[in-house]
Amino acid sequence: MALYHSPLYKDALAQLEMASAAMNADPNIIERLKYPKRAIQVSIPIRLDDGTVKTFEGYRVQHNMTLGPGKGGIRFHPDVDLSETTALAMLMTFKCALVGLPLGGAKGGVKVDPSKLSRQELQALTRRYATEIGPFVGPTKDIPAPDIGTDAQTMAWFMDTYSQINGYAAHGVVTGKPISVGGSLGRAAATGRGVAYCINFAYDSMGKKIDQNTTVAIHGFGKVGTPAAEDLAAQGAKIVAVSDVSGAVYNEHGLDVAKATQWVKSGRLLKDYEGVTLISNAELLALDVDILIPAAIDGVVTKDNMETVKARLIAEGANGPLTKEAIEYLSDRDVFIIPDILCNAGGVIVSYFEWVQGLANFFWDEDEVNSRLHRILKTAFDDVMEKKKLYKVDMKKAAMCAALGKLEAAMKLRGLFPG
Ligand code: NAD
Repeated sequence: MALYHSPLYKDALAQLEMASAAMNADPNIIERLKYPKRAIQVSIPIRLDDGTVKTFEGYRVQHNMTLGPGKGGIRFHPDVDLSETTALAMLMTFKCALVGLPLGGAKGGVKVDPSKLSRQELQALTRRYATEIGPFVGPTKDIPAPDIGTDAQTMAWFMDTYSQINGYAAHGVVTGKPISVGGSLGRAAATGRGVAYCINFAYDSMGKKIDQNTTVAIHGFGKVGTPAAEDLAAQGAKIVAVSDVSGAVYNEHGLDVAKATQWVKSGRLLKDYEGVTLISNAELLALDVDILIPAAIDGVVTKDNMETVKARLIAEGANGPLTKEAIEYLSDRDVFIIPDILCNAGGVIVSYFEWVQGLANFFWDEDEVNSRLHRILKTAFDDVMEKKKLYKVDMKKAAMCAALGKLEAAMKLRGLFPG
């Protein structure tokens, strides 16, 4: 069936079932969590700059809303489909539960290559998508955010469309907005900063410190990978390789992160970057480094290349970058894996802060945002470490157990409607 065929969905389900077996969870709760609450498919016709009309396929999936309104990004990417969106919505349910947010799990996307559309076409696409899913989202129902291929500008168009239709400035309908229309300080860098915080917690737990001998490779130098690189470089680590969809750049003595960031921010591809060694994305994943951060897309370390990975710590910046087989193989070899629902939760945590600030119309300074983010992630990290010991499972399953425990308790208390 269209909803359930993707490898990411099958992996998410397998992780859920293994966590459930480890902690002896209620099978009735697991039965409910296997399926999304609601999966919406919409058609998005837009007029292209050449005057012709083209129709794109869009989705919004709400997986579970027991803990609160749905929360999850909007992805513009050619590989978006209903099954992948469902899997990502499911991961959001577990992520929000794990870090203790009063939010459920959702995800959306449009099957499109945004690099092929003009700014005007992208605006039309975003506004029509917002209109089509409009009845199902809102500050108390489901609150989208940026993901691959979308950004603060996309969120501003989405917020404006929803506000025009509903007749008031609805700050709470999306997060990841520009600061001038109700965004939160610290949101843009929050996911990458959270990745760096989690790496520090992991190092602390091993009695290690980040220093000038710590080597880092980052697969995907985008909204997640870039701030993670900046934070770790500021701590003295050597960022030896970063990549985008076009390829990777490598310097064994450490790249100039600020220069590489400028290069990418000016819209250029890394394959054209000068003065460094060019390598492939596959070579980057196999580098002999202390820390590997896969921060691009899902399914990049699989049974086909897991034996080539040499990193001692892997921080899952992206959602589902390691398949189930790869996680089991690498965990058995004592690679420290920080699972996605913990590692990249910084984005949804500061999105939650943005939503709260928008509802209260009272905005915090960046230090307050960052210190609250640090506190929430540290509590969640400690919880996962405790579940790892308690249930004698790897980090990925431990994170699922921690999330599942909270969801199970809430779902049992709310009960099954209509009974
Ligand atoms: P982005 O679009 O800003 O960056 C993605 C990066 O990955 C770019 O450098 C792109 O060129 C590269 N890339 C794309 N396809 C690739 C491929 N096939 N091979 C190698 N590189 C490729 O996206 P982002 O927001 O940084 O998101 C990256 C990942 O992190 C996604 O899995 C997303 O779901 C997840 N995530 C993002 C956030 C957030 O706040 N942005 C929060 C949580 C999780």
